[in-house]
Amino acid sequence: MKTGGLLESAPVTRPHPAGAGARGGTASEDGSASRTPLSSYYIRSRIGKICVAITGASPAEMLRNAEEISRENHFVEFRLDYLANPIAAIPKIKQFLYERSEVTAIATCRRAATGGKFKGTIAAELEILEKAALAGCHLVDLELQTAEHMKPAQLQRLRSRGAALIISYHDFESTKDLDRVFERIHPFQPEFAKIVSTAKTLADNVTMMRFLDRRRDEANLIGISMGEQGTISRVLGLRAGSVFTFASAHAGEETGPGQIDARTLRETWRIDQIDASTKVYGVAGNPVRHSLSPLIHNMAFRRETVNGVFLPLQTTRMNDLLTLTREVPLHGLAVTMPFKSEILRHLERTDAISEKIGACNTVVRAQDGKLYGFNTDVAAIVRPLERRLPLSGAKILVLGAGGAGRAAAFGLAEKRAEVFVCNRTPETARKLARQAKAKFIRRDQLAKSNFDVIINATPVGMRSLKPASPLEPKELNTRLVFDLVYNPIDTPLIRMAREKGLPVVTGVEMFVHQGARQFEIWTGKPAPEEEMLRVVVHALRQDANANRT
Ligand code: NAP
Repeated sequence: MKTGGLLESAPVTRPHPAGAGARGGTASEDGSASRTPLSSYYIRSRIGKICVAITGASPAEMLRNAEEISRENHFVEFRLDYLANPIAAIPKIKQFLYERSEVTAIATCRRAATGGKFKGTIAAELEILEKAALAGCHLVDLELQTAEHMKPAQLQRLRSRGAALIISYHDFESTKDLDRVFERIHPFQPEFAKIVSTAKTLADNVTMMRFLDRRRDEANLIGISMGEQGTISRVLGLRAGSVFTFASAHAGEETGPGQIDARTLRETWRIDQIDASTKVYGVAGNPVRHSLSPLIHNMAFRRETVNGVFLPLQTTRMNDLLTLTREVPLHGLAVTMPFKSEILRHLERTDAISEKIGACNTVVRAQDGKLYGFNTDVAAIVRPLERRLPLSGAKILVLGAGGAGRAAAFGLAEKRAEVFVCNRTPETARKLARQAKAKFIRRDQLAKSNFDVIINATPVGMRSLKPASPLEPKELNTRLVFDLVYNPIDTPLIRMAREKGLPVVTGVEMFVHQGARQFEIWTGKPAPEEEMLRVVVHALRQDANANRT
């Protein structure tokens, strides 16, 4: 496709909205001056990478929000369709843009039929957009289906109001036919073409980014995949060719599924710094929505000036993960449920302990481009204990025989501890005990047994489950308790141990330790472990407070 209005050549400057009437141009039918739409070059010279969507229950609230947001972000979108009477906001927007000439604004009044909230007709939407343009909004956003319903004269009239045009397309179901949608937008010759799809898989992000990369020289494109799995496109889309991306003003004020707030995009994902050489990492599994791995690794990358970004990769399908890993390409993975074992056969090689346990939680892409696996869970269980007691000959009870229980049993048996395994399903414990050269113990034997350490490697006590301890007080006959559960920090088991005057190790220590070793494997640099601990504890305390209120 040849470039047309989608990429014009001459920048057009614009007088201040207050002087709009005085600007040169021809009179249109209704007597108002006809103005040349602002060029994409002019717009691009004014904007950053993030456009913040502004909503509000009333015009006054919308403008208050705009005031607040524009202190940090000079590029905003007025979502006029969120107002019961959008026209009432126009004089306030005009005044705001007059006073804040550094702000660039999009006016959007998307109808309900095309995924917005405006209940009016196309004619009413056009009237609002025209007025917004005359009030000084630099861009107006028109949905493709609306543009296709309009008469050429209607479009001409909107264009004559001086704002640059974005033609948008939203697919709330899937990511498909992106080129076909682009071909439908092209005849309208807008200054910007916005295509928003929905990611149902991680690979959908690849489809979106490939599209952006393929078409970036033909148009000023904005491309995003919505939904929980679309985070990758929101963070990496700019690098692929999206001119800018959209963010919400604050968490909880999203105008699209999966939208991220502006501060998080900037501070956690550092999208202003992402460039062609930024290495991409992520935590892969299900669920990873509340994983704290992105928090600690993005913080560590920033602190240690590593040009890297760390993303949540939510999927249950190994093929989906492998496609993303290959196509982005990813330089490292923190692997969690359900992939810790399954990933092994897709790796070039793994360290000895991963092979022995049959589970790996860390993947790195080496210089040769191949993927290698490590297990940092083992060291993250062994080292905190080694710091507190000699492990050789220590009697250690491991509750649970899943991934974490296996890491504990193998790791501690290797240190010559006398390991006992107890599990809800006894056969699994028996099998693990056999494999790890440990001993099987039944639950009903615990009350009359003594240990040096008891480790909880079951999910019992996790915030997402009902508060419970995996053991009763009479079964807690030990010198030290290690609960691998880290959210909450003070689990019922930890509280029970403290009540008995026993020293404890919390799951946070394990979490930070395994993350720190991952950071070192990926970057070759020492991890800022204290800082990692600080941000995790802070986040968990915030989480606890939020759950209390
Ligand atoms: P997993 O592979 O699913 O294994 C879970 C184990 O817990 C299984 O042995 C299971 O017994 C047992 N279990 C599950 N629900 C139970 C219940 N209601 N009562 C008694 N036993 C129960 O999980 P995993 O990967 O080993 O992780 C276990 C926990 O360790 C996680 O939930 C997490 O909190 C913690 N963890 C923490 C870190 C960290 O960095 N701090 C790292 C990894 C894991 P059955 O065999 O009978 O199903």
